[in-house]
Amino acid sequence: MIFESDALRALLQAARQVVVFTGAGISTESGIPDFRSPQGLWSRFQPIQFQEFISSPDLRREAWRRKFIIDEDMRAARPNRGHRAVAALVERGQCRCVITQNIDGLHQLSGVPSDAVVELHGNGTYAACLECGYRYELPPLQAAFEQDGTIPMCHACGGLVKSATISFGQAMPESAMRRAEAATLACDLFLVLGSSLVVYPAAAFPLRAKRNGARLAIVNHEPTPHDAQADLVLNSEIGEVLGEALAVA
Ligand code: NAD
Repeated sequence: MIFESDALRALLQAARQVVVFTGAGISTESGIPDFRSPQGLWSRFQPIQFQEFISSPDLRREAWRRKFIIDEDMRAARPNRGHRAVAALVERGQCRCVITQNIDGLHQLSGVPSDAVVELHGNGTYAACLECGYRYELPPLQAAFEQDGTIPMCHACGGLVKSATISFGQAMPESAMRRAEAATLACDLFLVLGSSLVVYPAAAFPLRAKRNGARLAIVNHEPTPHDAQADLVLNSEIGEVLGEALAVA
């Protein structure tokens, strides 16, 4: 009998250089809800577009209110078996780049060096001024918001302060996009873990790798639009199947 993890193990063993590409699905086993599953965040919140954040004080206040609710899950979250398996792949030298759409910092916390993680959608564990880039830690911003509804503004330049994540409608970070592109074109196995593959431009990377001759493997509970292009599709739990494939507990 061939188990799902055997098929994935065979692909991993045959690969010289793997790019791991993760979405919100790798972190659900750590207690952070994803967007598009039935219990996902979008069953509770419609996304606020970047332009709405800029132009509407009310939506800015709403964005911060949601952010501090979501942060409760995020702060409590610890890396799970899927993150540990990815970290093992990096540690073994088979993967030099983890491209993530996640903003939770759990790959770094699981031991993947920061310079091996490409955060396409930024990082939600801190905030930054949209004008001058000055970095702000979240606890003082949250305390002021909860005390009297203060919406964070930059002390240095007066600009708007926003969670250091990329919202819908916001420009993608150029250097992250360049690094992701280079890694995608250098790999011979592109492994998608827990992404619905509908958010662009991030979702274009797996197809780019495939067209460049790499193999494509997708581990996701639900079908994705890229399944027909993939060499292997597993509709399984990431921690279990990748943990078994790499013998990581
Ligand atoms: P998504 O919500 O669109 O898709 C997640 C996919 O993961 C779903 O198709 C779901 O079936 C699958 N999934 C969930 N748990 C799984 C598991 N344990 N094993 C296997 N599959 C599982 O997420 P996305 O594609 O990453 O895109 C949405 C955007 O959401 C991203 O831009 C990201 O920035 C943001 N986001 C991030 C976090 C986080 O940082 N943890 C959480 C929510 C949303």
